[in-house]
Order: sequence, then structure tokens, then C-alpha cells
Amino acid sequence: MTQHLPTGSGSDIATAPGGAQASSCQAENDTIAAIGTGAGLGGIGIVKISGKRAAGIAQRLFRPARPTDQPQVSAYIPKPRHLSHGFIANPDDGQPLDEVLLAFMPGPHSYTREDVVEIQSHGGTVVLHKILDLVLLSGARLAEAGEFTRRAFLNGRIDLTQAEAVADLINARSESAMRQAARQLGGGLKLQIQILIEQITDMLADIEADLEFGEEGVSGIAAERITGASLSQRLIVPMRQLAESYKLGRAVREGLRLAIVGRTNVGKSSLLNRLIERDKAIVTPFPGTTRDPVEASVTIGNMAVDFIDTAGIRDSHDPVECIGIQKSQEALNEADLVIFVIDAQNPMTADDERIFKDIQGKRFIFAANKIDLFGVGQTPALPIAYAQCDPIFISAKSGAGLDALKSRIAKLCRKTAGGENEAVLCDPRHKEALGSALDAACKAAEALDDDGPLDMVSMDLKHALGQLQTIIGERIAAEVLDAIFKKFCIGK
Ligand code: GDP
Repeated sequence: MTQHLPTGSGSDIATAPGGAQASSCQAENDTIAAIGTGAGLGGIGIVKISGKRAAGIAQRLFRPARPTDQPQVSAYIPKPRHLSHGFIANPDDGQPLDEVLLAFMPGPHSYTREDVVEIQSHGGTVVLHKILDLVLLSGARLAEAGEFTRRAFLNGRIDLTQAEAVADLINARSESAMRQAARQLGGGLKLQIQILIEQITDMLADIEADLEFGEEGVSGIAAERITGASLSQRLIVPMRQLAESYKLGRAVREGLRLAIVGRTNVGKSSLLNRLIERDKAIVTPFPGTTRDPVEASVTIGNMAVDFIDTAGIRDSHDPVECIGIQKSQEALNEADLVIFVIDAQNPMTADDERIFKDIQGKRFIFAANKIDLFGVGQTPALPIAYAQCDPIFISAKSGAGLDALKSRIAKLCRKTAGGENEAVLCDPRHKEALGSALDAACKAAEALDDDGPLDMVSMDLKHALGQLQTIIGERIAAEVLDAIFKKFCIGK
């Protein structure tokens, strides 16, 4: 059984069930419990128990429905992976508390690899808390945030990227985000990182052999097998590819940022309100009304999209408007996608030209608004540079062209979200570690190209290795684990 050993220097390291090290939140061999279902009322709710005492607690509290005439004396023998119908009763007075279904999953074939019991009761807050109280009184302690998943990780059932994917799956804002998290949970990213780790370990073995037995410099086995070019092919290229997937991965995970930009009064706020189907942004005929960027989230084509209505970009002497304009520029820089809005009646101003230049290099949709001011079947003549951008003619006022605009947005979202089957990077923690590993690998390749000393190459590769290992949770500081699992909900 693989177990993940967090590194750490301080007194906060304890031993978790199965011998793996854990932070102070896990005392040795203790049994944890929590309500596994969300807060609020529900048809059913689940109390989860994990640890050595789980089965004993179930025996103490559970009375099988049959025989029904003597529920208080009928002993329950936990049946592995079997759903038992019965009651949770207070052991002090034998009074049944709620009718439940109980499942017992002995370790290691369970979520945490420990003995797990799940009690499915009615979903009322009082019922669930009462059952949890009885469980705690029977020898479990309340689980901390993410502690079930943390145990699954520490006991080697999943790696850290998979544990993090559990949180992403729960927090997914869209179907695309959910699918991306599911791919990561399935081990897609873990596999890629493990392949990279194997490559480095392989190279390091050769280099270490050279350092120990060979001549000084790149002269022995390593020289034959490892060159700057081979290191680049085996490590740098795939690492770079993975690093480049972050932009899209993040956009899918956190929602695509779509900035609506244009000069003042072209109809940006009206368009935002149309797209989100409510009046969120203030619309007036007076230029410069939108100061702070207005944000609203919707789901388009399986993706969460955060629309940002920005202040109209123009030269202004109003200090408040200037701050708004600066924020617009920032929103534009950070945006994954842009809708560039112009007034179809007056499409050639200097401000339009300036913004058009600013959005080059971004994925954008060109929207000519106020088409309702033209006669039926008439479209405005646009300058050639604009006309080449496949403009879409809309009216935020009448709604004309809005469906076409939405499907154009959905298409662009799909394009931006990338392939469905690839492992992508979507977590800033992974991105930072991979970036550092990539830098070190580049330094190692340069040193090899320059016939540099092998021990320097070895040092850089060891650094890269360490960084990759932190991604999957090997050699990770207990404090980092604490920070990761704190973001989970209690009961997961
Ligand atoms: P923003 O400054 O770019 O956000 O523009 P607004 O959405 O505040 O709109 C400015 C003015 O243009 C308002 O008087 C709107 O009613 C008007 N407007 C917006 N969209 C349309 C449209 O499609 N057709 C017409 N005729 N007027 C529009």
C-alpha cells in the first residue's frame, strides 16, 4: 500500500492510521465522524464515520428492523458492503431516534482505506445532529474540514491532485469544470506528473553513476544518454505543454472571464443586462455612467462565464471615471475572452480604433450594436479592418442578433476550454510547482549544452524532481497539506 509521507520539521507531525505521518489534526488511530451531506433540509442526510471504532459504534447504535418485536436486544453484526435497514437508537434508553439505512465498508476497500460506516437518516438538521452526537458520545471525534479525503490521501488511496480534484468537483460551477475535475480525480494529471518524475529519476540515476564512477565532466554513461536536446525532448517539451494548459484549465475551473469593452455609450451595459437577463448594470444615455466594472455570472454552453461590463474607454479628465477606465484596461488584460462593442451608427471614432488595437492578441467577438436604428435588412458599412473580423450585428435594445451572439460566445468558450481528454493544469499550486520545475530543467539543459559540471545538472534535476513530487503530494510539508484541506468542507 503506497502511503504519502508529508515532510515537516516541527512538532505538528503525528502518526496517522496505517503509519503515515499526518499533521496534528489526526491523533493516532482515532475515529472521526461528520455529517456528510450539505447544510439545510433534505430528504435524506448522511453521517459518516471512519476509523477503527466505526463498526463498534454502528453495533452500539444500530438496531436492525428485523426482528421488529425486540429491536433493543437484537445485536447488529456489521455486514461488509451491505445496506442494512433499521433504526438508530439511543443506547441509554433504547428509544429509536430515526429509521435509517446503514452501510459498512471495511478498510482498505473504502474511501479512507479505514473502516467506514455511513448512516443514511432523514435529512432534518436536528435528526442529523442528534445522530452525530450519539456517534461522538460512542467514541468518535468530530472530523476536521477535508479530513476523510486527507486520510484517503495519507493512506495512499489517492494522490494529492486527486484529493484536490474532490474539492474542485464539489465546487464545480459548470459541467465543463465538473468534467475537468473528474478527469483529474481519475488520475489524469497524476499520471502525467509520474511520467515526468520517472524521466528525471532515470536521468539522475545515470548522472549519479557518472559522478560516482566516471571522470570529471560529461564523459561517462550520462554523456552518451543525456544531452541538452534529449533532456529537452524528455522533460522540457511535455512540461511546457502542461504549463501552457493552465490558462485554459483555470478558466474552466474558475469560470471564463469575458470582458465587454468599447467606448462610452455604445451599449455595453445594455448588452450585459440582456445577456444575463436582468437589470444589473445601470443604463443611461449619459456617457461615463459605468465606473466600477460590473460583474455577473451565467452558464453558457456548459461553461461558467463571468461577464465584466467595463467603463467605456476614452480620454477623460474626471478622476473617478479615470479610475474606472484603468480598471477596464485591467479587466481587458485579465480577460479570457472579449466582446468588443461598437455603435453601428458611428463605428469609426478614434476611441474605437484605440480599443480595437488593444484587443489584438485576445480572443474577441466583434459586436456592432444598435442595429435597430437601421431599416429592415440594412446593415451598416464597416471599415474593412472591422468587416474582416466577422462582425455580428445586434441590438441590445430589441434583442435582435442576441441568440447568434450567445452561440458565438458558446463556440468560443468551447474552443477556449480545449480538448476533453487531455490532462490540464488548473490549480495555481500545481502551476507554481511546475513552473519552478521547468525553470530548473531548462537550467540543467543549458548546463549540459555548455558542457557544464554534472553535479550542477544533478542539483537542478533534483530541484525539478522535488517540485514535481510536491504536486502529487510526495514530500510535502504538513503545513501545505493543512492549507489544502482547510479549503474542504467538513464531512468530505
Ligand atoms: P454603455 O455606456 O456602453 O454601457 O452604454 P449603455 O448600455 O449605458 O447605453 C447607452 C445608451 O444607448 C442608452 O441610452 C441605451 O438605451 C442606448 N442603447 C443601448 N443599446 C441600444 C440599442 O441596441 N439600440 C438603441 N437604439 N439604443 C441602445
